Amino acid sequence: MNVYKQFGVEPIINASGTVTRLGGALMSPEVVQAFKEAAQVSVSLDQLQAAASRHVAKLTDTEAGLITAGCAASLTLGTAAMLAGMDLKRMEALPHATDFPNEIIIAREHRSGYDHSIRAAGAKLVEVGFNEIVSNAGVRRTEAWEYENAIGPNVAGIVYVHGPHSSPPLKDVVEVAHRYKLPVLVDAAGELPPRENLKLIPGRGADLVAFSGGKGIRGPQSTGILCGRTELIQSAALQMLDMDDHFGLWDPPANFIDKSKLPGIPRHGIGRGFKVSKEEIIALLTALDLFVSGNQDDLVSQQQQMLMKINNALENHPVDCVLQESPDSERSPILFLRIDENESANNAFEICRRLREGTPSVHVGHGRLSEGILVINPVCLREQDVDSLIIAIQREL
Ligand SMILES: *Cc1c(COP(=O)(O)O)cnc(C)c1O
Repeated sequence: MNVYKQFGVEPIINASGTVTRLGGALMSPEVVQAFKEAAQVSVSLDQLQAAASRHVAKLTDTEAGLITAGCAASLTLGTAAMLAGMDLKRMEALPHATDFPNEIIIAREHRSGYDHSIRAAGAKLVEVGFNEIVSNAGVRRTEAWEYENAIGPNVAGIVYVHGPHSSPPLKDVVEVAHRYKLPVLVDAAGELPPRENLKLIPGRGADLVAFSGGKGIRGPQSTGILCGRTELIQSAALQMLDMDDHFGLWDPPANFIDKSKLPGIPRHGIGRGFKVSKEEIIALLTALDLFVSGNQDDLVSQQQQMLMKINNALENHPVDCVLQESPDSERSPILFLRIDENESANNAFEICRRLREGTPSVHVGHGRLSEGILVINPVCLREQDVDSLIIAIQREL
């Protein structure tokens, strides 16, 4: 931790999970070692991305993959690929997609702050459907025919945000899209674990799937994966990689970028600012292998023990603890602390704020404060911090 203190930054206790604001996942020692080794040797990024592509393709059962600068970057690059394809003139024009199809269909209920990454490529979002259950106006959510209704000559593809409760089913949306020869890009940022989703989600027929590298995979925070159809991945890679070479010298592996299909070498594309370093790529691939091997499953039982300890330490305090056990050997348990706001010194919001301001600063999950609940997510919680966390919470109660 001295590296942070050396520059005047105090480490925090993170009981909030792999959130970007708090630095994402913690990398395991094997991943850090791989990062370190990779940082000390030069390689061709074309060759490295091509090797990563083959590796990701194998693990996801897709044709090709690309290591990106995060799931958000994957969304921009995936959209750029859907808009431009292998057309160099279109790549050059982005984000100004003015004289070619630029509409991307998205369910209204799939929209969020992350769709700025889709619009950043030059796409115009066309919203369809409603979630009338949430708006308390009806019994239905978005339906597949509503996507079909929005399809016209200006549509370049569909974006689908995958979650445990997303609707309509992805395979129904894919079926509509493919009937009109349109690609589907899936945002599956937080859908790992379980690791079976690496294959299950692409297996539903999507043309491109985007995952975060710095969440459940526990790779570097600034990494992500884009995987799917060869031609779209090729387009995304061309729009991200450094292109400062002579066409006659440039020699990307043909199964990654098929140079024979290109009239020349494009200039730097819209994704040039989303570069991923060699050591980040190697660290992500190492983390991905560990994730797939089940090597990290032991963490779940450690997390369970940490949460039990917190749970036990808060008995006889004005809080009702509910431990949500892990649903399988991969996903983490979660501890919910329902504050008894009549008995406690502070309400949940105040406790959350005071914990952050304390020394050490403690960040707990803040997604259910309006219900008077603090969420303890153990994914980034270190065993040696549990006692300090308990003392801090006890103090604020
Ligand atoms: C976290 C998240 C992203 C962004 O992922 P990064 O890897 O941080 O870029 C995009 N979409 C959703 C739904 C997310 O939860």
